Amino acid sequence: MSTNSKSFNWEPVIGLEIHVQLSTKSKIFSNAPTEFGIEQNLQASIIDLGLPGVLPVLNKKAIEMAVRFGCSINANISNHAIFARKNYFYPDLPKGYQISQLDDPIVGEGSVEIEIENEKKLIGITRAHLEEDAGKSIHDKYDNSSAIDLNRAGTPLLEIVSEPDLRSAKEAVCYLKKIHSIVTFLDISDGDMSQGSMRCDANVSIRKKGETKLGNRTEIKNINSFKFVEKAINFEISRQINLLESDNFIEQETRLYDSQKDETRSMRSKEHANDYRYFPEPDLIPLEISNDFIQDIKNSLPELPDQKIERFCSEYKLNSYEAEILNSSKEMSNFYEKIAQSIKNTKLIAKWMVGDFSAILNKYGSSVEESKISCDDLTDLLQKLDEDKISDPAAKKIIEILWNENITVEEIIERENLKQISNEDDIGELIEKVIKENPKQLEQYRNGKEKLFGFFVGQVMKTTQGSADPKVVNKILKDKLKQ
Ligand code: ADP
Ligand code: MG
Repeated sequence: MSTNSKSFNWEPVIGLEIHVQLSTKSKIFSNAPTEFGIEQNLQASIIDLGLPGVLPVLNKKAIEMAVRFGCSINANISNHAIFARKNYFYPDLPKGYQISQLDDPIVGEGSVEIEIENEKKLIGITRAHLEEDAGKSIHDKYDNSSAIDLNRAGTPLLEIVSEPDLRSAKEAVCYLKKIHSIVTFLDISDGDMSQGSMRCDANVSIRKKGETKLGNRTEIKNINSFKFVEKAINFEISRQINLLESDNFIEQETRLYDSQKDETRSMRSKEHANDYRYFPEPDLIPLEISNDFIQDIKNSLPELPDQKIERFCSEYKLNSYEAEILNSSKEMSNFYEKIAQSIKNTKLIAKWMVGDFSAILNKYGSSVEESKISCDDLTDLLQKLDEDKISDPAAKKIIEILWNENITVEEIIERENLKQISNEDDIGELIEKVIKENPKQLEQYRNGKEKLFGFFVGQVMKTTQGSADPKVVNKILKDKLKQ
């Protein structure tokens, strides 16, 4: 069933709920550590388990981080935030309720700007509230039963809820990436999606173009990579178009994205908010946040992605595409600025970092932090490229070898014989030799067969096994062929 021909009649509407794990050292209501990857069930305290008689104590760092986020999206910060119990039963929630926020969330309305196909667009943020994470069910450890790991229970989460302002899967990913860069620049989360530090629920509906009312939506739960967000939303849009085009209706429900089959499946029909029997958390008093506290945080905000993108454009003369990619994460942008301290040619650094360096990170599914090519190695390589000591193809080859072997740039150049000959006298001599060896072609060239220029370049490259600097070869060859 093809939807392409029909899809132009429909407008997708998307709103994201993003869960960000805050990088506090201890849990939101207990002093148990929040480290990832610890042996199961060793870091849930009696408070995280909700044993009778224990009382939660709010972690001030989590509040500070939530306010930092709020200030960076120009949101209203509540002076009087309230925690609430959200009651539901699930094996990974031994307390039977999650402490969250409903009315009076800590962060109110704000917005972020995204740029897509050279157009800027403001995406509204409805709210961001603090809550505790649940434990984890593990289904693949034992044959016939599931296991529960409660280490994650009580880890602080900031849930960031967007307005239904997104109009395509691409916009949704762009927005998610913006939030990712904001929280990592603010140092309030490591943003590692593969470890679940950032997860997202996508709410998707469609409506006829020109329609102003929202259609029925479905919510795809817990998507954990940028790629899957895009795929899940696109699948869901097509599924809904097909249903409405064949006179069916969209059931309001929660769905799950299966990345192996690249499809979404129904999990359960949508519970209504009041199914959770929310009520104010009796063990926590309302949180008073003073204007001084908020102002102090505003004053101490670091440079944020948008500001840094602007600065990269003016200071390093980059285009906004390059600046955007170089600021997609804090590590990437630090990497760039560190190299820019030693190499003046900032365009060249950007070109290679946005191009081949990003490509190799993608190829090996690695973040900048996990890069097998150190900042020093990349600096070394780009320096040699900038000084014309190696050619572009040689640099490409070196990047691949640097990634896979424990070896320096200098050693690779030596071993693979990649040194570029750019000395004009040396190249001049080579060219004279090539010209002498090909008198027939020389005559034809001088008689107007200009196409043969390429032949001569080829010959010079061949005798030097590709190591002559093509810029110098072109320049000198033009002179010598004229005589
Ligand atoms: P709930 O609390 O039941 O999940 P909310 O009204 O808080 O519902 O909305 C959650 C998310 O769903 C928000 O990001 C919002 O923008 C989005 N959303 C709401 N209605 C629609 C719709 N019709 N289509 C797409 N997204 C929607
Ligand atoms: Mg929801």
